Amino acid sequence: MDGADPHIHVEQSVTRDDARVRNLLAGTFGLVGDLPGTVTTGCGLSVPYAMTSGRPESVTCLTCREHGRTQHLGLAEQIERLGSMPGTVITGAQMSQVAEHHRDLARRFAGECGPTT
Ligand SMILES: [Zn+2]
Repeated sequence: MDGADPHIHVEQSVTRDDARVRNLLAGTFGLVGDLPGTVTTGCGLSVPYAMTSGRPESVTCLTCREHGRTQHLGLAEQIERLGSMPGTVITGAQMSQVAEHHRDLARRFAGECGPTT
């Protein structure tokens, strides 16, 4: 066992924590994940699900914060690409809202408060 790890991590697949995206992706790709007891973190550890958080302010592992930032940025772009695909059941406005939500999370993971770059 790796003993007492005081850090809060993010799950490697941060999107699983977000019900909105989970539903969105499930509807689009048929991907649904059950919440497991143990998860792989952004920094490659295996920890109990309770030791992870989807809220940037709660994540104390620096590697995981960086991982979360990258994940959410990538997800925002992915969502926007989906939004421009014909035949999608979700409206562009909904997509933008979800994408912006993830941009915001990415900023919070980075510890930024305002829009930069
Ligand atoms: Zn970590």
